[in-house]
Amino acid sequence: MYQHVHSPLPGQMMRRPLLISAILRHAERHFGTREIVSRCDDGSLHRYTYRDCHARAQRLAGALAALDVRMGDRVGTLAWNGYRHLELYYAVSGSGAVIHTINPRLHPEQLAFIINDAGDDYLFFERSLAPLVQAIAPHCTRVKAFIVMDKDAIGIKGIPRLACYEELLAEQDCSYTWPVFDEDAACGLCYTSGTTGNPKGVLYSHRSTMLHSYASVAPDMLNLSARDCVMPVVPMFHVNAWGLPYSAVLVGAKLVLPGPALDGASLYQLFEQEGVTFSAGVPTIWLGLLNHVRTEGLRFSTFARTVIGGSACPPALMDGLREEYGVQVIHAFGMTELSPIATVCTLQAHHLDLPADEQRQLLQAQGRVPFGVDMKIVDDDGAELPWDGKAAGHLMVRGPWVADAYFGQPPGSALEGGWFPTGDVSTISADGYMRITDRSKDLIKSGGEWIGSIDLENIAMAHPAVQQAACIAVPHPKWEERPLLVVVRKAGCELEPYALLAHFNGKVARWWIPDDVVFVDSLPMGPTGKIQKNRIREQYRNHLMPAVPQL
Ligand code: ADP
Repeated sequence: MYQHVHSPLPGQMMRRPLLISAILRHAERHFGTREIVSRCDDGSLHRYTYRDCHARAQRLAGALAALDVRMGDRVGTLAWNGYRHLELYYAVSGSGAVIHTINPRLHPEQLAFIINDAGDDYLFFERSLAPLVQAIAPHCTRVKAFIVMDKDAIGIKGIPRLACYEELLAEQDCSYTWPVFDEDAACGLCYTSGTTGNPKGVLYSHRSTMLHSYASVAPDMLNLSARDCVMPVVPMFHVNAWGLPYSAVLVGAKLVLPGPALDGASLYQLFEQEGVTFSAGVPTIWLGLLNHVRTEGLRFSTFARTVIGGSACPPALMDGLREEYGVQVIHAFGMTELSPIATVCTLQAHHLDLPADEQRQLLQAQGRVPFGVDMKIVDDDGAELPWDGKAAGHLMVRGPWVADAYFGQPPGSALEGGWFPTGDVSTISADGYMRITDRSKDLIKSGGEWIGSIDLENIAMAHPAVQQAACIAVPHPKWEERPLLVVVRKAGCELEPYALLAHFNGKVARWWIPDDVVFVDSLPMGPTGKIQKNRIREQYRNHLMPAVPQL
């Protein structure tokens, strides 16, 4: 919270608003021949340049104007990472409207809720998602047209008010000029993935997106340059693919958009064929890729750096990519409400002489804030806790790319005392490295003390026979709650509960060691590739309770 004071002597520099259209114009002018490669639904590759992309975004903006889309109107997208989605990013926001990216993996009821809550006037969708659109269309009566992102709409049945992307573009030329308006105008809307409750809308502004983009290309952040070939594996429907459709374009990197096929084999093929140097995604994606390259005995020839975030990156995954494959793994923390990047883990000068193992452990933290993000940890009463790497408290953040209120809610309503409560629990070291110990809702409360589930999962994942692990709190008659490990074994590996529990000896306090291990074939995954611990908790809630005698 601050008071705005008007200066008696304003500076005399140009007031040019920070607008998203300027990013694509810059790329078109300075990197006009740089390529954008997209893998389409049918597996074929589409190639064009920033110059082509800009020209088509202008035509699309002309088409939106012809549809009477006005400043502030919401335009929904149900789409994978591909060139038409990128054109929508720039044409919708560039013309002053708001792109509302929607996660197609949500339940149809949730989709209809989100589309209505956002007040979308138009919905653009991939042909492969037509059955989904058909199911939700009757519940989305406000939507004026459903526009299939393809060259024609032949064969699509049962969708009312159907229109076709390429037909709309064909009616336009490239004479559209990008309007200039206030940088505080809304540019994009994204709903939280709802891992811990109902999805809520986060409304970004041109200013917040531009500042986030500037900050994220810096060397201690994503370190992006015109020499990079960037493949956002994180979806463009999930917090703007962590800002890469802006930041990669801003620096003039080659862009590779992988479409819907995100299995290890499909990704590996694109990495090699297109010369990808940088990528970003959630841990589950990289587990799949690592498995693939290990089993097939493959090597990466250009892949140098990857940002992993969205949920805690298991150290075993980091070590595998780094030590076996020479890929620099950059751990990052963010949220839909934080645009999303809040911390990135890179070393400082005084760490360079540390022994390799200490560096390795440091790099497992969620990282430190860039200029632009402030953070603090507080106890249950809101009192600030020390930065000693030990005290764990509720993580609060603030900054120009942090949400102030959810969509449709009054200003400041998402904040507590001017800070945004992340719902995560963390420690912060003396030199500012933040380490998430848990989500508030995932913490395990045993005998009045907190046990962090992430540490226990990381230890389990370091066992050679473990593919994936989730540690949850289950009710316990004596201790209130105790940790239970739910584990997927690696294919062909044998492992007994006692052997896995023995692996915890000496690594954590005895009372932190889980009470039991359950082996399963797979863990329930949410729409953004995160393990749904609430579902696992529900399933195993009676696991440690005495059986109720049958009458
Ligand atoms: P949702 O809260 O619905 O899952 P988000 O995708 O915005 O939606 O997720 C943000 C949350 O993801 C954070 O609050 C945090 O709990 C978790 N998260 C993100 N990055 C990391 C990370 N590197 N380590 C641990 N948790 C993370």
